[in-house]
Amino acid sequence: MDRDQLRRRLVFYQDLGFRTLYRRPPVGAAAVGKRTTEPGPAKAPPSVFDPPPPEQDATLFSVLADLAPEGDTLARIREEMGECTRCRLHEGRKTIVFGSGHEQARLVFVGEGPGADEDEQGLPFVGRAGQLLTQMIEGTAKREGIPLVRADVYICNVVKCRPPENRTPLPDEMETCGKFLFRQILAIRPKAICVLGATAVKALLVTREGVTKLRGNWHRWQGIPVMVTYHPAYLLRAYNQTAKREAWEDLKKVLHYVYD
Ligand code: SF4
Repeated sequence: MDRDQLRRRLVFYQDLGFRTLYRRPPVGAAAVGKRTTEPGPAKAPPSVFDPPPPEQDATLFSVLADLAPEGDTLARIREEMGECTRCRLHEGRKTIVFGSGHEQARLVFVGEGPGADEDEQGLPFVGRAGQLLTQMIEGTAKREGIPLVRADVYICNVVKCRPPENRTPLPDEMETCGKFLFRQILAIRPKAICVLGATAVKALLVTREGVTKLRGNWHRWQGIPVMVTYHPAYLLRAYNQTAKREAWEDLKKVLHYVYD
């Protein structure tokens, strides 16, 4: 990470309300910079679907990892969340939409927040956008010869309660609820994360770039490869045919990386 990236990351955390950051040596720090002459096993050539190697400094600020206690599990996180009233979004919700899918999923999808159908059913991505997401996951997997159904992945949102009128979650709501999201991802430790739309980008990546610029390329969160793509609700708009094609391409890339 260069100085400019570091500065932007700090500004981002400041925007989220973090006032103190603790530096912790990355895992295996003792080995950093140590060269070895011992021959290792032959490495397979990188696949076009592979993300770039992790930046050494990607885990430099592991403040978020500090939020996740040792041995954290989804059940424990949900239990600690309880009937949460930590932010104003609890006022209009019917149900907390925690997340659904495989507890040890190799792939996690992160969206923005629940809509009306999700609030009603207590499950993420069950409305029209959710049906499209399911279709995209299962349809792409099938076409690519990957045996995968929606239940094999884990799906959740940045905020767990429906924002009024489906508005975009506010920064303080994202910060408060984002801690649960970070814990969920760290508890699952997937091979990759697929970020759906701008709000999830803001929650997980240190950037002010939009989805259009970021999509299709690999990024990282806490050392985990992240693919950015469009939110399915955006793809439902009839004029977004190009975006639809691009989203399918992004998904193809993620699925091959995770399941090949
Ligand atoms: Fe709690 Fe998250 Fe709901 Fe806010 S959005 S009340 S932090 S569960």
